[in-house]
Amino acid sequence: MTAMADDATRLEGGCLCGRLRYRLERVKSAYWCHCTLCRRASGSAALPWVSVAREDFAFTAGTPAIFESSPGVARSFCGTCGSPIVFDMARESDVDITIGTLDAPDRVTPTHHIWAASALHMADDLGSGVPRHEGERPDEG
Ligand SMILES: [Zn+2]
Ligand SMILES: [Zn+2]
Repeated sequence: MTAMADDATRLEGGCLCGRLRYRLERVKSAYWCHCTLCRRASGSAALPWVSVAREDFAFTAGTPAIFESSPGVARSFCGTCGSPIVFDMARESDVDITIGTLDAPDRVTPTHHIWAASALHMADDLGSGVPRHEGERPDEG
């Protein structure tokens, strides 16, 4: 995780309309996801995420809408403006937050790609130079 200089820093972010605000701290990893679900959820070619322990993330303003995109997987987003914010898989101790909704997204640098097997051609140049895993990252369950 050497690409991330700020793993001890508290970061803040929010949705497009500003109703949802959050804070997170102690960044554990950051990556690009090319799965078809993240593509649909974001409307983007790929979605960059930052991972923190569940207790290191909290909404500080507003209440998100939640969509269960798979059994045990809750995606939180703004019910007013639609910004995707959180990916929360119940069986894992970490949650993922969209880097694009951080106030200072350049403080975090993704170190790898996952689900690259379903990546769009237009996403070939996103975050080039870091490892691309065909599915999940091999050392993650
Ligand atoms: Zn909003
Ligand atoms: Zn995904």
